[in-house]
Amino acid sequence: MFIDHNYKEIINSIPHEVVLVAVSKTKPNEDIMEAYRAGHRVFGENKVQEMVNKYEALPKDINWHMIGHLQRNKVKYMASFVSLIHGVDKMSTLVEINKQAKKNTRVIDCLLQARIAKEDTKFGLEFNEIEQILFSSELEALENVRIKGLMGMATFTDDEEQIASEFADLGEFYQSLRSKGCKLEVLSMGMSGDYKIALDHGSNMIRVGSAIFGERNYIAEQ
Ligand SMILES: *Cc1c(COP(=O)(O)O)cnc(C)c1O
Repeated sequence: MFIDHNYKEIINSIPHEVVLVAVSKTKPNEDIMEAYRAGHRVFGENKVQEMVNKYEALPKDINWHMIGHLQRNKVKYMASFVSLIHGVDKMSTLVEINKQAKKNTRVIDCLLQARIAKEDTKFGLEFNEIEQILFSSELEALENVRIKGLMGMATFTDDEEQIASEFADLGEFYQSLRSKGCKLEVLSMGMSGDYKIALDHGSNMIRVGSAIFGERNYIAEQ
């Protein structure tokens, strides 16, 4: 029952226009169903195979978000049902998503992942690379993908000022793109440890796992 309790506490504490993605990676279907019975329908996973297994076993009105780093050869397994892909950081991934979306006669919504953390990370695009993609004719030609917004992860640190400055940078960049006419609606930033800071800096989608479902087993996450 702690899931029901945690979930209600969070959902009641955030503005109603903010989308809460309940990150259920490594957690069993029973845990997802507890949040489902509390009324939740948006869940996030970071491994394609695990998400496919859960999709097949669980109610079909769940919206599944892929939040993990994506391997191109896995896109086809989720193309028929995924509702939002958060971590796109390459044009070639968009090309593959477009191809698989087309096969399923769908348009797949995606977020471009920005690199905002100061720590060493391979993932994410620099702001100028995001602009290049958004204004490219190559993207325009991809009729079966829609870039709905941006996603970012702050540095893993206790330094709240640093986290706030990273989220502020992305929040400002997101607003600047909107003021240049980009039709972006989603700014996905904030996890269990930092979503309150993210909300202060314009996030409208938070990805919260352990604060709802409890700590994950680190080994199982690898
Ligand atoms: C695991 C994960 C989360 C959730 O992390 P918590 O700290 O458990 O809330 C959010 N975003 C991404 C990309 C993740 O991989």
